[in-house]
Amino acid sequence: MGVPITDSLTRFVFERAALRGAVVGLDAAYRECVGSHSYPPRLTRILGETMAAMCLLANSLKFQGSLILQLQGAGSVRLLVVECDASLTLRATAQWSGDVADAATLAELAGDPRRSRMVLTLDPRDGGPLHQGIVALEGGSVASLFEHYLAASEQIASRLWLDATGERVRGLLLQRMPGSTDADTATWMRAVSAVDEATEPFGSTDAHALLAALFRDDDVRAFRARTPRFGCSCSRERVAGALKMLGSAEVESILAEQGSVGVNCEFCNRRYDFSADEARALFAAPQATAIH
Ligand SMILES: [Zn+2]
Repeated sequence: MGVPITDSLTRFVFERAALRGAVVGLDAAYRECVGSHSYPPRLTRILGETMAAMCLLANSLKFQGSLILQLQGAGSVRLLVVECDASLTLRATAQWSGDVADAATLAELAGDPRRSRMVLTLDPRDGGPLHQGIVALEGGSVASLFEHYLAASEQIASRLWLDATGERVRGLLLQRMPGSTDADTATWMRAVSAVDEATEPFGSTDAHALLAALFRDDDVRAFRARTPRFGCSCSRERVAGALKMLGSAEVESILAEQGSVGVNCEFCNRRYDFSADEARALFAAPQATAIH
């Protein structure tokens, strides 16, 4: 029975070797994430590849937290943020300036590596400590950045293939399991070269057919597909909290200039408006309740 690859994530294992992986497709989830911004085409695809990679990583989270990738760049990309939680809800944003060359890699767009920084944060969201790891901005593609990160942080041999158009993203992760031995090396090599040599590794619209076509000499067991989605956690309360952080003086200066305060969520572009009274009320001392 087939499983459409559209907006799906399917995890799989090899039956006769300690190898595992997952294949992901982002369609509506991707278009909704990038659709409310007018990113240059190259930046849209890089965001898409990063979203697929984050989805593949977040799929193995063992708790209800989220993964956040944040790039502070010194080149034409100033900021890139992709978040994916354990339920595979995604959101992303980027800021850029000037031209984004159509063949540029993420590392090139980030500019001077001494002044750029990419951090992957694991937020357990239950009050537990954050875990942060630096993702080295070396190599070229988004896939190779994540491969290096996985090799360094998890000590597991991993290969990642990503393919984004303006409309959809496909991704495939292949990993040796922690207990993998020399006996698995031949299968690992065969599986990796099968994907490397495939003219169209993501040619199929069905996740199971795609795995069967790539790994035709091996028994691969696929698990039930999950559904990645776009979702933004912004709210009026959170925006109000951000305005309070900004401070009364700053908010007064916006009111003097514009008469009200309007804030657009940088992820979903939703607009939050605060009238002068509503904005000032954020800084008012709590009212004493009259007792009759
Ligand atoms: Zn939002």
